Amino acid sequence: MPYRNCENLDRLLNENSIRMRPSAFLAEPPYPLSRASFDRFEGMMLGLAIGDALGNTSESLVPAERERRHGEIRDYLLHRVLADRRGYPSDDTQLAFRTLEQILDDGHLAPDRLMRRFQNDRIFGIGGTVRAALHNANLGVPWDRCGVARAGNGALMRIAPVLFPYLANPSRELWADTALATMITHNDSMAIASSLAMVHALWQCLHHDRPPEPEWWLETFIAVLREFEVDDQYTSRSPHLPPFQGTLWQFLDRYVRRAYRDGEATRIAMDTWYSGAYLLETVSSVTLLLMRYAGNLEEAIVRAVNDTHDNDSIAAIVGAAAGALHGKSAIPPRWLEGLSGRTRENDDGHIFRLLDRARQVSGQPSP
Ligand SMILES: [Mg+2]
Repeated sequence: MPYRNCENLDRLLNENSIRMRPSAFLAEPPYPLSRASFDRFEGMMLGLAIGDALGNTSESLVPAERERRHGEIRDYLLHRVLADRRGYPSDDTQLAFRTLEQILDDGHLAPDRLMRRFQNDRIFGIGGTVRAALHNANLGVPWDRCGVARAGNGALMRIAPVLFPYLANPSRELWADTALATMITHNDSMAIASSLAMVHALWQCLHHDRPPEPEWWLETFIAVLREFEVDDQYTSRSPHLPPFQGTLWQFLDRYVRRAYRDGEATRIAMDTWYSGAYLLETVSSVTLLLMRYAGNLEEAIVRAVNDTHDNDSIAAIVGAAAGALHGKSAIPPRWLEGLSGRTRENDDGHIFRLLDRARQVSGQPSP
């Protein structure tokens, strides 16, 4: 099956209709690293689902208020509607596993088909940008014109599965898949560059023997963002910072670097720049959390769940990275056993079945 995504991306870049810089980086396949074990890939996808499930029952609370209501969250909370304490998905898990499902069914990432799957879903807690893009798709707008120029985290939180086709076969198509899977909903410089930076980092996490040095996260994100961000200027929403206008890499370089260097408490730093669904805040928070906690999967996810505002998406992103580094075998059994595995109202276990299919496709033996 010939892949078309590099051609699609070249066309969009030539038409100037995708908000990213045509970096030479796009021509390079991802580093050929040692073969990733399937345990790592599975850990990445389950870390994403678990971070979402631990967070989405206390989403959008200021961390101090969440702590007042729930104490420290280390397990699935009582679900308001479903009235039990299992792990249930929101949009983060749904859209990520819908992406894996599309890749498995078609053998590669097809942005038009992915868009159709999103259109056909009932998405729990859908974000405004994804909603706007799906509205465009429902009006008959072609997939590559549906994306909206907004810098929410609704593409970054679902991006991890794009790595799957390349685990054993590194190819520069990975970068095209990442950019297109993002721009179908978020045709925005910070959104596309953030997905590329995260996929670049996840690729290396899947292969690392041990957690990288803290500074690696910051330098890696800055380096990749600089390659791909155009000069679109973003402003900070936080009144606790001097007025900021610039790109995401500049924000990381200034504020995340300073918070880490000064040993500022993670929650205080994230409260200062805010930790909402806006990528300027989300990526800054994810970077600092990984710098501090990537060596310990449980703590990384727990801190993301407790100490951020958009905690389900931030924990899903942190969970994907920690899962890629440590693998499924490092996930606390109580989190795995309590996870419903559903992506719809009545398909319990679906994500485990998709991961079994992925394992078979990748030619790895069952555990
Ligand atoms: Mg969510």
